[in-house]
Amino acid sequence: MVHKILQRGKGFSVLAGDTEYQTEFVIFAAPTFLAPYLMEGMAPLYDFEYSPWLTANLTLEHFPESYGTDPTWDNVFMESPTLGYVDATHQSLRSHVDRTVWTFYWALADGLPSENRQLLLNQDWNYWKDAILHDLERVHPDIRKCVSRIDIMRLGHAMARPKVGAIFSAERRNLAKMHGRILFANSDLSGFSIFEEAQYRGVHAADRVLSQVAGTEARTH
Ligand SMILES: Cc1cc2nc3c(=O)[nH]c(=O)nc-3n(C[C@H](O)[C@H](O)[C@H](O)COP(=O)(O)OP(=O)(O)OC[C@H]3O[C@@H](n4cnc5c(N)ncnc54)[C@H](O)[C@@H]3O)c2cc1C
Repeated sequence: MVHKILQRGKGFSVLAGDTEYQTEFVIFAAPTFLAPYLMEGMAPLYDFEYSPWLTANLTLEHFPESYGTDPTWDNVFMESPTLGYVDATHQSLRSHVDRTVWTFYWALADGLPSENRQLLLNQDWNYWKDAILHDLERVHPDIRKCVSRIDIMRLGHAMARPKVGAIFSAERRNLAKMHGRILFANSDLSGFSIFEEAQYRGVHAADRVLSQVAGTEARTH
């Protein structure tokens, strides 16, 4: 984990653990809100907003009863605050599956992110276990008899979310410019986190650095 990035002449010292790397360029692909904690003199960001999420892996000893339909891969319940679950063994080629794992997703999107982060911190495993099972048992009434284990992950800043005006944010647009020797490349610069934006920004940053290196070499030789 990188814990400091220092300007050194035209380049940088990047400190990770006890190791110090000397670099000509930095591609900063970690979530952008972390940059001010790592880079000297960088002011805290004010236009980036992140939703906290909770995910849980439920180990099922056997499949529960289901109201309404056959089991599917992705299961979203109507009138639920959660995003439901995906079944990790749905594409298994085995002819018979007894046990499975469901991954349950809960984007805490209603209300202020800071309050929802506090809720994540304040409530313990028992609270979330009951909330998850309560949601699931509306469709799977015997779910409590099937689950043998629940592993819960609290993600304080899981996904960037665009707040009103984000598209015009001068701060975001400036950081996304990719000029100079530090290039920001996290998907949050697109306003919200999706894989396509992560891939686009990473490749774009690498191309920019390569062309700058090539330009430098062309001038040197
Ligand atoms: C529960 C959940 C479900 C999602 N589902 C989808 C989906 O179905 N489809 C979709 O398109 N997107 C989904 N997303 C969004 C997804 O996270 C993004 O699309 C993608 O991961 C963003 O990639 P990224 O490279 O921009 O950032 P990240 O994946 O966040 O990568 C940033 C990396 O920086 C590393 N890092 C942080 N600090 C440091 C440090 N100090 N030193 C070194 N490394 C550091 C982190 O460990 C991380 O690996 C989901 C997100 C969540 C939380």
